[in-house]
This record gives sequence, structure tokens and C-alpha cells, in this order.
Amino acid sequence: MPELPEAQTIASDLNSALQGVTIADARILYRPIVQNPEPFLELCRGREILEVKRLGKMIHFRLAGDCHLLVSLRMTGQFLLGQSGRSASSAAAATAATTAYPPHVHAVFNLASAAGPQGEDALFYRDARKFGRLLMVAPGEFAATLAKLNLGPDPFEIDPERFAAALAHTQRAVKTVIMDQSLISGIGNIYAAEALFAAKIAPARPASSINIREASRILEKTRAILTEAIQLRGSTVSNYSAPFGPGSYQERHLVYRQKGAPCPVCRATLAQQAIGGRSTVFCPRCQK
Ligand SMILES: [Zn+2]
Repeated sequence: MPELPEAQTIASDLNSALQGVTIADARILYRPIVQNPEPFLELCRGREILEVKRLGKMIHFRLAGDCHLLVSLRMTGQFLLGQSGRSASSAAAATAATTAYPPHVHAVFNLASAAGPQGEDALFYRDARKFGRLLMVAPGEFAATLAKLNLGPDPFEIDPERFAAALAHTQRAVKTVIMDQSLISGIGNIYAAEALFAAKIAPARPASSINIREASRILEKTRAILTEAIQLRGSTVSNYSAPFGPGSYQERHLVYRQKGAPCPVCRATLAQQAIGGRSTVFCPRCQK
């Protein structure tokens, strides 16, 4: 499931293809993925896409007229550029029930002009497991929506003292705390495991036991790992892919999904433990 590097890659790909492009209209093929289908379609129509960026692990389309589309990709959400199926002579083809979309496409944004490298004129939202959500925010409501989402700063934005303070105030496992999107946004199961291994911190340790020096080491390693992962377009595990292709950071994972393998540092056998309901691999010797 996409974490910060994957969301950043998806947003960058979409931004390079779609910035300045107008959404002609949209179709929702599976209604539960949007909370507000009627205003959603109305608000999309004729809006220019000013920018596509990342917000925590979400994708944020900033549209003209202070409209915002926020997308939580959750487990299997993806964006693809494709063909709307409109022919030059017949705009009606765009709404024909027989239009063939790729499998698991639940929303279609028809673009007013070609946008992709192959002249694609549609953006598809595809989601095999249907856990993702699209939220259209009406003009004037963005600040209130952000407040409701309650997202903390991401690891690049957060002040090191604020990060240390967030850890100091709770007994929960440090891994659970760094994945808490209300405290620090963007980190999920993959990068939490990798960052704590790099920082040599046992993932189950109570966050309150982490001293200031250890907290700044966790933040520093997290930033370094996320930066490298962004350069490699994220980690392609399960089905993640961005519009312009998958990532390769999975080849650099040292502990994630490596249970039973020798620790790449000390050769001890990597162990696995459920922490906050998520399986976590770590080195029982290196990580204290
Ligand atoms: Zn080790």
C-alpha cells in the first residue's frame, strides 16, 4: 500500500501529465468509493487541474476555483492514464455503456485535451480491493476538511523537537507511534520497519523510553530512507505502480518481509513480531 515515497511518485507523475489540463467530465462506476457522488461530478466538470501533490500518504489534486480532490489509495488504489473512448466524430461514445475500461476501474476523468505521452485523454482510478476513497472538497471547505483529517506534519516537515515530544508523551510502541498519521504523516509498515532497523531501535520499545538522541536518529534515518525511496520511485510490493511505472526500492529493503533471513549487519536471524496488529521484522541483536 502506498506510503510517502509511493504517493510522492504518483503525485509527481500525475502533476507532470495533468498540470494545466481541464477535466471535461467524470464518471463514477462504483459509487461507494466517493462520499459525495452528485456534487462530486458537478464539481469536477470543466475544472482545470492546477497542481497534483502529496498530502501525507494521500494524493491531492488542486483544482481551479478552490476545489480540491483528495484521494486515499489505501491497499490497492492506482491512477492510470488511458483513452476515454471518445471518437472525434461522436462525443456520445464517451458515455456509451459499452466503453471498455481496464479491469477494476471505478472512476473515469475525461480530459478536455490529450495529456499523457501517448496522447491519453482520460485518467482512471483503479482499485482491485475497493478500499480507496475519493473526496471532492467544495470551494471554501478545504481548511475545515484538513482539520477533520487531522494529519500531522510529514517527516520532512516535522521539527525534531516536536517529533521527540510526540514520542515522549506515550507508552505505545515506537513503531505504532511513528505510523500514527495524526502525529507524523506518510510512514506505514514498510518504512517504519526499515527506519527503525537503520536507527537500531527495537520496534516494540515504549515510545516514552526513546531519548532525544535516539529520536533524532530515528528522524534522520527516516528522512534518508524516504529520500532514497523517492529517488527509486518507491517500493513495488503487492500491486503498487505509478502512472509512469513501478518502483525499485523493494530491492533495498533490509528487513521488511525478511523474517528468518540473516541480519545484513550482524547475521543474527531476523525475527517477526505483531506490533499494533502489524507484523514487524527486526533484528533482535542490532535493535535495542
Ligand atoms: Zn543485526
